[in-house]
Amino acid sequence: MADAQLVLRSTRVITPEGTRAASVAVADGRITAVLPHDAEVPRGARLEDVGDDVLLPGLVDTHVHVNDPGRTEWEGFYTATAAAAAGGITTLIDMPLNSLPPTTTVGNLRVKQEVARSKAHIDTGFWGGAIPGNVKDLRPLHEAGVFGFKCFLSPSGVEEFPELAAAELEAAVAEIAGFDGLLIVHAEDPAHLASAPQRGGGAYKHFLASRPRAAENDAIGLLIDLAKRYGSRVHVLHLSSSDALPMIADARREGVRITVETCPHFLTLTAEEVPDGATEFKCCPPIRERENQDALWQALADGTVDCVVSDHSPCTADLKTPDFGTAWGGISSLQLGLPVIWSAARERGQSLEDVVRWMSAGPARLAGLEHKGAIEAGRDADFAVLAPEETFTVDPAGLHHRNRVTAYAGRTLHGVVRSTWLRGERIAEHGRLTDKTGRLIERTSA
Ligand SMILES: [Zn+2]
Repeated sequence: MADAQLVLRSTRVITPEGTRAASVAVADGRITAVLPHDAEVPRGARLEDVGDDVLLPGLVDTHVHVNDPGRTEWEGFYTATAAAAAGGITTLIDMPLNSLPPTTTVGNLRVKQEVARSKAHIDTGFWGGAIPGNVKDLRPLHEAGVFGFKCFLSPSGVEEFPELAAAELEAAVAEIAGFDGLLIVHAEDPAHLASAPQRGGGAYKHFLASRPRAAENDAIGLLIDLAKRYGSRVHVLHLSSSDALPMIADARREGVRITVETCPHFLTLTAEEVPDGATEFKCCPPIRERENQDALWQALADGTVDCVVSDHSPCTADLKTPDFGTAWGGISSLQLGLPVIWSAARERGQSLEDVVRWMSAGPARLAGLEHKGAIEAGRDADFAVLAPEETFTVDPAGLHHRNRVTAYAGRTLHGVVRSTWLRGERIAEHGRLTDKTGRLIERTSA
């Protein structure tokens, strides 16, 4: 620790081996050692003693729609990364759609990186997109540093990012398997959606019936088959249907390379409580019944689900019309994910260590971010300082999201983020942002 420039000290530091009192030494943006709480602070190093507040690794959110450039009235790199920093997130990976251009060619990736470069408060990387006709772009995108490829099996909601038909999906899986890349999938089967009743209107039960569990289950079954046949890595985005869990668990036991994420809204909001016309609760797949939610928590506890990420997918308030059939589907939660999940986790007897596993270590592993996701020597000095026993009430005015539409307004939550640190620099304190020190990260360099 002789070369340390900074020492962060807490009676509760969450490390891969558990929570303990410790002093974390930092030099040149990296953790150099995790030492006893009373370790001597070297001359010239600055001590930051956070007392009994918890020091946890900065969260990694691998599912964020930043929409910049092109739909920056929905969100943008400056506002999204500010919200993330205020919420304890130090790394995000941007989804390839809803921005113009979408991240479907290397040229488009460069456009997005240029826009993000000067605006990022936190480390920012990119997923590529697999759409009809761009199979030839996948390997170049992989080599240019995207973390993997997103595709849809049913319409995405924006015309510049069409879904893959079955044969196109198989061609993408085969191509990506060739360089051992990762395919991440919005798994809803279009045939089930087409045959479900599409009644529209303000009644949530009609919307729920329009996106049945069977659509997810069958799409995931197809993915498992493809992953088996090609030996490729696939990842199920935003799992809502708990009916698919046994099939996923079986596939994993057989050695199929499939991982799964779910989202704060599926874990904390239920179909039973969505008011009619309240389209701030609309997302696809949809928020389902309470009994479904209990099964998702069980799957987190037993390890079938690997991570919890936001799927932050904002839009302007006017697109959240009171009709579930036509309103934009997406829930904003970037800044609130940690307290939302921690509040529910503690009531279900889960620990803050579990939350760190789901929201930091898990997503870091998914994206291959070897320097993120844990407090241990050699990792980036990315931290969140959390007061887990303290509560606050969600006031949309306190959110840094560009649009403050939120399904969590008025909720009282446990867990106040005191500060956030990126590579040894404090980037947020009590919700206020400091300098933009985020870097663009790529698969090869991360
Ligand atoms: Zn999404």
